[in-house]
Amino acid sequence: MLRSLVPDNGGVTADAHRPRMSLPTVAVKAGRPPNEPDRPLNHPLVMASTYVAGGEFEYGRYANPTWAALEEAVGALEGGRALAFGSGMAAVSTVLDLVTPGETVVAARHCYQGTLVQLASLEQRGLVRIVLVDIDDTEQVVAALGDQVALLWIESPTNPALEVADIPALCEAAHAAGVRVVVDNTFATPLLQRPLDSGADVVVHSGTKYIAGHSDAVIGLVVTRDDQIHDAVDGKRRTMGALPGTLEAWLALRGLRTLHLRVERAQSNAADLARRLAQHPAVDRVRYPGFGGILAIEINGGADQADTVTRSTGLWVHATSLGGVESSLERRRRWKSESPSIPEGLVRLSVGVEDVEDLWRDLSQALDLVVPA
Ligand SMILES: *Cc1c(COP(=O)(O)O)cnc(C)c1O
Repeated sequence: MLRSLVPDNGGVTADAHRPRMSLPTVAVKAGRPPNEPDRPLNHPLVMASTYVAGGEFEYGRYANPTWAALEEAVGALEGGRALAFGSGMAAVSTVLDLVTPGETVVAARHCYQGTLVQLASLEQRGLVRIVLVDIDDTEQVVAALGDQVALLWIESPTNPALEVADIPALCEAAHAAGVRVVVDNTFATPLLQRPLDSGADVVVHSGTKYIAGHSDAVIGLVVTRDDQIHDAVDGKRRTMGALPGTLEAWLALRGLRTLHLRVERAQSNAADLARRLAQHPAVDRVRYPGFGGILAIEINGGADQADTVTRSTGLWVHATSLGGVESSLERRRRWKSESPSIPEGLVRLSVGVEDVEDLWRDLSQALDLVVPA
């Protein structure tokens, strides 16, 4: 897989999972057609429900060359083999479907609300037992890893509480207890965090967010180094039909080409805004893990005042989702399904790649409208 990155020299080092090139170069270069006369530089959008028999693709629900190009690129970035799905939740649900009925899943209390809803519905049907933990409290997580536990579900940073897990320590403890580890790496991206290198068994992504990066495609990914898990996930994708649209796979790969530039800019904007927000009297608390492009602020006065802020911005769009080039913000508790332990006045900010002075001018005028308590 990594071999195709550098046809001339093999492109792999002694560690087969570490490409010889740095990750930004991999983002630009991986998953392209061979460097031969008249080949296009980009992989074409292949619309096909079936293929001439005798090859590896066979049927449109099993495989597609455009998915394969995206999978090669994401696999190279994460250091494993990737499979693309119809959404982040399709990826999450497929991985959760690997748990044998009766086993326990230990999961981050503040992981993505869709993941929590899916876990709760599996539990209601008697398919799994769930234990929720504070993922940034390593001792608490390790204490929960008992005999019946099949899976530790890490998200780091969490959405939207922005807690950070000690992934290497948790992987070590989990493996000592015979527990498999999944990391939802949507917020950090493989550029800031490569969980498979830290011992995780599976990485999942909402490719809808940073990987595609332009708020125009819904897609998910599962990455693993273990061939057995890879084959099991591939088998489930086929039978459940949780496959991505071909156009979405193409858009995600197109977006991925600038992942490093977008993440770098979003991160520097976010760090700058985190400092300024901490000084604003309307802001009770700033949550910023110190990396990435997502931060959360708690507004003095709770839900009403937070709604004033989300109503009053112009450049910042009031919208759910995150990780696009454009900055957006949202009061998370406007969703009934959001965890009740997320404060009513918490506003999640997805910092885009605009000019930071423009972002601050727009955000600070909205914060200035908050009436002092
Ligand atoms: C959005 C998100 C998901 C779900 O992804 P979809 O593409 O919306 O299905 C999963 N995990 C995290 C951390 C997310 O932010």
